[in-house]
Amino acid sequence: MYDAPRSFAVRDLPIPSPGPGEVLVRVTAAGMCGTDLHLHEGQFLANFPLTPGHETVGVVEALGPDAVDGERSALTPGQHVVINPNSSCRDCEYCDEDTPWLCEGFAGIGSSTPGGFAEYVLAPGAQVFDASGIDIDLAVFAEPSACIAHLMDRLDPLTDCSVTVIGAGPTGVLLTQFLAYAGAADVTLADPNLFKLDRAAFLADIGTMVIDRDDVAGSFQQMAAVHGRFDVVIDATGAPRVIEELPLLARNGGRLVYYGVADEHARITLSPFDVFRRELTIMGSFTEVDSFPDALAAFRAGAIRMDGIITHRFPLGDYATALEALRTDRSAHKVVIEP
Ligand SMILES: [Zn+2]
Ligand SMILES: [Zn+2]
Repeated sequence: MYDAPRSFAVRDLPIPSPGPGEVLVRVTAAGMCGTDLHLHEGQFLANFPLTPGHETVGVVEALGPDAVDGERSALTPGQHVVINPNSSCRDCEYCDEDTPWLCEGFAGIGSSTPGGFAEYVLAPGAQVFDASGIDIDLAVFAEPSACIAHLMDRLDPLTDCSVTVIGAGPTGVLLTQFLAYAGAADVTLADPNLFKLDRAAFLADIGTMVIDRDDVAGSFQQMAAVHGRFDVVIDATGAPRVIEELPLLARNGGRLVYYGVADEHARITLSPFDVFRRELTIMGSFTEVDSFPDALAAFRAGAIRMDGIITHRFPLGDYATALEALRTDRSAHKVVIEP
């Protein structure tokens, strides 16, 4: 539990009891991602005091009155579930227009209310989804997958598009598979980190190409010279020096997607003439509100594999070590807290 940015402790708290429409979930695993590093610094809409954890898998422990799951069926104690942390206010102009992911009053379990880095978490029943039959080590990727499913909606149609994803972290590995599943003509994943590329080698099975940026002398000009340019170029790093160079990889008329979470204070330099002359489209994609069913359907269809991507598992008491591993360990791929 954080009381302020960078200041946290592991504390004993009373187990919360579910109110009307709420579900008490006993957490079995909660994934960490770059967002948690931003929350640690007080960014990304963090609301203190805060227990983070927005990628939560668990078991239904108790139900408040009238708690049904996100697909409107009854939940039962002992059921294996995942939690959609995101909700919208249902009252602003964007919610009225059926674009709740643009909501001005967006709220997140694990950023605005207590999240899954705890033994128990409360969630509205409508944000709890049945995950029975899905392996826990895959289910822990449900939230990042739902965010990607939302991006796939926005990029639709992808048929005939060549796509490159820059950054082979867990998000890049998921993106690559969702793009292939959504019908992209070809997908290329690039990263200079050989450990991450090696873990992603299984993607070659689904017809994607995994390339080492250093192989092409580390520059996007050379990558474009060797592998061609792409209709869609997606940043999954959040690194300003990478984002700045994305136009080098784009075909004329191409789309650039800012998907990795950049520091709020980061700034980049762009050539407006290049964007104008080559009719480039720059788009962001932030999160999702209603894409959990799509993500879980892709899992159940066998379209997504994450074997070997979880490299580090820590109990709650080692939260500080887990954060440090995520931040600095080059051999850390997905880091998971297992209360
Ligand atoms: Zn995340
Ligand atoms: Zn709203």
